[in-house]
Amino acid sequence: MSLYICTDCGATFDEPKEVTETHGLETPPYEKLLVCPECLSSDYDTAVMCGRCKTAVPSAGCYFVDNTHYCTKCFATLDLTDKLKPSDYDFNE
Ligand SMILES: [Zn+2]
Ligand SMILES: [Zn+2]
Repeated sequence: MSLYICTDCGATFDEPKEVTETHGLETPPYEKLLVCPECLSSDYDTAVMCGRCKTAVPSAGCYFVDNTHYCTKCFATLDLTDKLKPSDYDFNE
């Protein structure tokens, strides 16, 4: 199943909506556009589900670690857990 996410309104959807752009013409050929069903923007991207927070994120802006996709936020958390200590750890002692 494909998943898409609108980069304008953040809506996720399985199938882009097909709309007809007539360009003011009274007869075809019309241009068919695939757009976000929510806001009719053509700025959408394929989406993947973040393996940690289960939020759909644009595939162009996610991270892929150990066969799992992560959003930027969760990837940052991973990074801290696995490689670094939280920056406020030392200050709280
Ligand atoms: Zn949208
Ligand atoms: Zn996430």
